[in-house]
Amino acid sequence: RAKEQGKNQYQFFNGEMDRVVLQKTMIETALHEAIDNKQFTLFYQPQFDVQTGELIGMEALIRWIHPKLGVISPAMFIPIAEETGQIIAIGEWVIEEACRQIQIWNERHGRSLRMSVNISPKQFLKENFVEHIRAVLQQTQLLPDQLDLEITEGVAVFNEQYTIQKLQQLKQLGVHISIDDFGTGYSSLSYLRKFPIDRLKIAKPFIDGITEEKEDVAVVKAIIVLAKNLKLRVIAEGVETLQQLNILRSLQCDEIQGYVLGKPVPADLFTTLYIENQLPHD
Ligand code: C2E
Ligand code: MG
Ligand code: MG
Ligand code: MG
Repeated sequence: RAKEQGKNQYQFFNGEMDRVVLQKTMIETALHEAIDNKQFTLFYQPQFDVQTGELIGMEALIRWIHPKLGVISPAMFIPIAEETGQIIAIGEWVIEEACRQIQIWNERHGRSLRMSVNISPKQFLKENFVEHIRAVLQQTQLLPDQLDLEITEGVAVFNEQYTIQKLQQLKQLGVHISIDDFGTGYSSLSYLRKFPIDRLKIAKPFIDGITEEKEDVAVVKAIIVLAKNLKLRVIAEGVETLQQLNILRSLQCDEIQGYVLGKPVPADLFTTLYIENQLPHD
């Protein structure tokens, strides 16, 4: 029915803006169905210690498998879900599913791996966010230390005092906090002194340039030194080549995530590739 409506509506829309609005409305409707019909799944991408090569954890990355359109990228629908508020329901499902999955891996791997989950600003700022995390930890009996929440610098801009308070509550629960896409937001660095965080994730655009551009090496080096001085862990994301990996190792980056060591994969494949078959890495 929604599809019918969409078709009939289409002829009334002409300009590019209208098309964008219509597309958004259609995605919003489709997202409702996706939530109701469980069309989401999580892929997992491994994260490794650069110096030892050891698997330290994974990032959960959502995928929307639409019955007709196939796989839809989160870059496409997360911003819309954020705008419509649907991110709250989706985000709660992501946390619950990721916690369920890490427990399965705990049975084989001990309770040593850490699960990173992306948290949208609207989700983080929702008043019951900390309560939801607390409830999930309680239900699953997961070690809080095994859960890492990736937030972006954007939450620093919104309301610094509120964010600090929420982060402190999360720290009291014992979960880890990472700053995702570090260096790409427009916030000042002053929040780094005030936020109780554990890790910086160096954004991919900086990593892309480190084999070619002296400036990118300088930026990445500075972020790593900054992290060390603030006693934070530092992970590079979007590492695609061995050359980049070697530079990051020589710069004393702590951790690596990227296609060169593993793409995001479904849970079963992750089990086969990284949990069962954990090859020593040289
Ligand atoms: P992100 O959190 O910064 O995730 C990293 C993105 O880079 C992922 O894209 C990942 O698949 C991709 N990636 C990792 N290594 C490489 C590499 O070596 N090369 C290249 N070209 N790409 C690499 P993905 O999965 O499409 O996710 C895009 C963004 O969507 C994420 O960026 C995150 O902001 C958002 N997202 C994904 N899952 C969730 C979720 O469950 N909740 C929320 N709120 N946002 C999510
Ligand atoms: Mg992330
Ligand atoms: Mg990122
Ligand atoms: Mg991101």
